[in-house]
Amino acid sequence: MHEMGIARQLFQIAIDSIPDDVENPKVEQVNLKIGRLAAVVEHSLTFCFEVIAKETPLDGARLHIDFIPVTVHCRACDNTWESENPVFTCRYCDENDIELLTGREIQITSIVLAD
Ligand SMILES: [Zn+2]
Repeated sequence: MHEMGIARQLFQIAIDSIPDDVENPKVEQVNLKIGRLAAVVEHSLTFCFEVIAKETPLDGARLHIDFIPVTVHCRACDNTWESENPVFTCRYCDENDIELLTGREIQITSIVLAD
C-alpha cells in the first residue's frame, strides 16, 4: 500500500518538527497539503498514520488535509489554468508543451501541539 510509505515519511517529518524544548509533547493535529494527482486515499493515509503513531507523541493526532487542485501551464502560449484531471494538451492553443505547477505535492504545512 502506497499510503504506508507516505505515512511513514510524514510521521518522520512531524516528529522531527516538534521543538526539542517541549516536555512530553503531544501533537493534536497535523496539517497537510496533498495534490489531487498524488493519488492519496485519505482514509488509508489516516489509518496508516494512526498505526505508526501509536505510543508516540503523535498518537491520536488528527490529519487535516487540504487537497490542492491541479494547476498546469502551457509553455507555448503562457496560459495557466486549473483542472480536475491531468492535462496533456493546451485548452487554449492545442500545443502539448504543458508543465504541471501544482497537484503532486505531499507536504506538512504545520503541526498543532496540545497545551
Ligand atoms: Zn497553450
